[in-house]
Amino acid sequence: MSTVSDYFGSMVFDDRMMRANLSAEVYASLRKTIDEGTELDISVANAVAEAMKNWAVEKGATHYTHWFQPLTGITAEKHDSFISPSPDGGVIMEFSGKELIKGEPDASSFPSGGLRATFEARGYTAWDPTSYAFIKGKTLCIPTAFCSYGGHALDKKTPLLRSMEALNRQALRILRLFGNDKAKRVVSSVGPEQEYFLITKEMYDARPDLRYTGRTLFGAKPPKGQEMDDHYFGVINPRVAAYMEDLNEELWKLGVLAKTEHNEVAPAQHELAPIYTTTNIATDHNQLTMEMMQKVAAKHGLVCLLHEKPFDGVNGSGKHNNWSIATDDGQNLLSPGATPYENAQFLLFLCAVIKAVDDYQDLLRISVATAGNDHRLGANEAPPAVVSIFLGDELNAVLEAIETGAPYKGIEKTQMKLGADVLPKFNRDTTDRNRTSPFAFTGNKFEFRMLGSSNSIACANIMLNSAVAESLKIYADRLEAAADFETTLHEMLQKTIKDHKRIIFNGNGYDESWIKEATEKRGLLNYPTTADCMPHLLDKKNVEMLTAHGVYSEAELKSRCEIMLENYCKTIVIEANTMTAMAKTQILPAIEAYCADTARNASVKKALAPELACHYEANAVRRLSALADQICEKGEALEEAVVSLGDAENIEAEAVMIRDRVLGLMKELRTACDEAETITAKSYWPFPSYADLLFSVK
Ligand code: ADP
Ligand code: MG
Repeated sequence: MSTVSDYFGSMVFDDRMMRANLSAEVYASLRKTIDEGTELDISVANAVAEAMKNWAVEKGATHYTHWFQPLTGITAEKHDSFISPSPDGGVIMEFSGKELIKGEPDASSFPSGGLRATFEARGYTAWDPTSYAFIKGKTLCIPTAFCSYGGHALDKKTPLLRSMEALNRQALRILRLFGNDKAKRVVSSVGPEQEYFLITKEMYDARPDLRYTGRTLFGAKPPKGQEMDDHYFGVINPRVAAYMEDLNEELWKLGVLAKTEHNEVAPAQHELAPIYTTTNIATDHNQLTMEMMQKVAAKHGLVCLLHEKPFDGVNGSGKHNNWSIATDDGQNLLSPGATPYENAQFLLFLCAVIKAVDDYQDLLRISVATAGNDHRLGANEAPPAVVSIFLGDELNAVLEAIETGAPYKGIEKTQMKLGADVLPKFNRDTTDRNRTSPFAFTGNKFEFRMLGSSNSIACANIMLNSAVAESLKIYADRLEAAADFETTLHEMLQKTIKDHKRIIFNGNGYDESWIKEATEKRGLLNYPTTADCMPHLLDKKNVEMLTAHGVYSEAELKSRCEIMLENYCKTIVIEANTMTAMAKTQILPAIEAYCADTARNASVKKALAPELACHYEANAVRRLSALADQICEKGEALEEAVVSLGDAENIEAEAVMIRDRVLGLMKELRTACDEAETITAKSYWPFPSYADLLFSVK
């Protein structure tokens, strides 16, 4: 193993391995399944399983697992060894096509949101041949979909694959209308930029809040935060550099195209971006990347924090979902073309996205909703919870010209006419970037920036693919029936621009006045919390659209809504319990110890020198005692609020109680504790400070 190209993908049973290890016939048959989704013959599956196993065993693997993505948001695996007893008392390594294609994990402990009755506790996993198998540790991992026996999807991969199929179906109809009869498939691709924090293991271990909840629930502002902007793109320190090097190597072996890495805005914050690939593989790879980030960190005595908001008052971490759609022969449909016809086609796809984002703002917001990400959206660093699109001046002018029929300055002809004018190439000008927009066009792709750092990218792309498929379907229906293609197209796009231009916003998304304008003047949706947005998953228009495209059944949507709200409630209840425990068993005793010592010092001093005022001691004890009372009182109120959640009628009501009461009490408790931290001597404070945490990696 010397150069990267020697070991890249060495742990992946990729196309190179398939070609080398399968007969020409088996390879061709498998390729057809991968490329066109045809069913796999059992004899082919047996041959593939045998080759896969031999390859894996040679690499030291002893086990295999169906690797899947249950609704918990992380990946799951259950390992089975390849061993099978042989008559002579030894073992042989076996793996059949049946085992490759289908697994039956006891799935009763995975959330199903009521989709799986307890009597059918077993779900099954089914191989997804479009994502390559790989070896992790000593285990051959087979990417799979996870369903209940009733056929309901219990995972994120199944709806993602369905949404890709829906988009493919509708986009092909459009391409045919534009005379393209060569393209066989249209695929959506994603390059997810992943942000994360690194702190030392030592600091992490000393904070129960980080260990139990992934974020700090207490912590006074450090004297130095990110105000100097000296971390962003700064020189990477040697310990972090060694970590990144190791991480890259692990990811490359797994065939993940890790490409770019740099320091982010906050101290201790970094980013990794891979080269984009199909949404399905990008999702699998992003899950693997998050897992490897944590594993490799442990080897370096570090902990990788993937929480959206590990530190209050410091930038949180997100994930930028760079999304585009392309044909199987490599034509990016979001790239302006060289001919007028291609441009008309580009404008159609552009308008389809604009319409989709406006019609399904709620679904996009829902797709990124978690308790963790709620801290970020709208917190002056991440995009707001209001969805809008940034197009940039040039495209904006083009759309305006189409809408009004007025001349467009970029083109010499007097009137912008679809199918007649060549659009200028849009430069991917970095000065034209709008970092505050939730959904920005960046030259040949859209960057959806609302995702939280720990989110699976599956959800966002399911909604995006489906909503765009819906716009395309409406367009295709109309155009297929049109007598005059060009006129109909022109009128259709004009109407889209008129109806949906409210979603286009090129200004500063962090501005207070924007939220006012967005909600009051433009009627855009603003759902600040998960409790606000999640129930809208079941709005009639959303259920109709998602079921019509076969992405989710209504039962599956109900289950998702239930599970997401449950996650929200559980997360915050764990946080609240962690807070009260830390306050009672660590913070209050620390304050008491410090007050007692300080008071004792004062009385000793006064006994020695009665003229001393002992202001410092008196003030500290007075203020800290008052704060201790507040902490005690807020802590009790928080405990009661958590207990009262038991009275909630259903999960939706519980989420609302959490939003309206629990979150506020957590904040009040924290404020009192954080002030106490600034008065108590550091040697008494029971856990590392923000400064200790943020500047721990040296
Ligand atoms: P940025 O300036 O935002 O860092 P980059 O060019 O570095 O832009 O790309 C960011 C991410 O977008 C990378 O993961 C990259 O692979 C991905 N990307 C680039 N082109 C496309 C595309 N056509 N479709 C999807 N993702 C893309
Ligand atoms: Mg970016």
